[in-house]
Amino acid sequence: MNDEKILDDVPASPAELFKGVFDLPHKSPVRPVQLSLDDKFRFRCHEGIACFNECCKSIDIVLTPYDILRLKTRLELTSNELIQRYTVPYDMDAHGLPGLKLSTQPSSTACIFLTDEGCGVYGDRPSACRYYALGMVSMRKKDSAIDEEHFFVVKEDHCRGHYEPHTQTVREYRREQGVDVYDEMNRGWRQVVLKKRSCGPTVGKPTERSLQLFLMASYDTEGFREFIKTPSFSDVFDLDEEIVNQLMNDDVELMKFSHRFLKQVLFGEITIPLKEGAGEKRLARRRALRAKHRAQKRG
Ligand code: SF4
Ligand code: SF4
Repeated sequence: MNDEKILDDVPASPAELFKGVFDLPHKSPVRPVQLSLDDKFRFRCHEGIACFNECCKSIDIVLTPYDILRLKTRLELTSNELIQRYTVPYDMDAHGLPGLKLSTQPSSTACIFLTDEGCGVYGDRPSACRYYALGMVSMRKKDSAIDEEHFFVVKEDHCRGHYEPHTQTVREYRREQGVDVYDEMNRGWRQVVLKKRSCGPTVGKPTERSLQLFLMASYDTEGFREFIKTPSFSDVFDLDEEIVNQLMNDDVELMKFSHRFLKQVLFGEITIPLKEGAGEKRLARRRALRAKHRAQKRG
């Protein structure tokens, strides 16, 4: 077990290294240290530390679907309300795959949830906040079906936590911060994002419709639930009543299902059974819609 391993060949900027997986809260240059789950690192963050809240005063935090779910539940908002009030959109790749980041306070780089007492949503803080001062990058080698996860210590000048007399393994830290649960919940979605990125131009630019579906299925719980009730969905996908009922009543199950749905939408994987004749039905519905629009235009 190593107490500290230093990467020789590190990217110039850690923000580049983690981009779109978990962006770091700060963009200052730091020295990444590669760790496995059982490697130890020295770090402790607590309320009495001199730098308390410093890391939340200049943020760049990418949100995952499970982050949105936890925050909207805590704040008793719909996903849409949460997105409108507390997030900003950004493109996760050159094709405009839609992502969300945490908002900052007006005319400030401080997190929208930062209070004088600390994090205002601590029990449901996003994944990236839980990881800090660790970073994680998930990669898939060419011709491999398995994602490899690597961990890095992120050392920034303002953070005094690295000088506290406390060491722990990556595994212990992840468990203590609740990262394990968040990673498990986000796994399917991260696979979609990674696959989309690693396929690059081979899958081509998703259609506008696919990007809209990605946005809805990833972040808009209520919108996606409504969509499942529409003929656009029920004419195509073959789900038994018990599963539909579960999706109508359980946000976490709905989120996990959305990951399967996205694999089908973006990559054509048959992750959800299709109804017989679904293609023809969809075509007929589209033709009827086009005819209706033409008729409306004519007057
Ligand atoms: S959500 Fe909480 S922990 Fe995360 S940056 Fe904001 S205030 Fe800090
Ligand atoms: S020790 Fe680091 S992570 Fe903890 S409050 Fe200070 S700057 Fe933030």
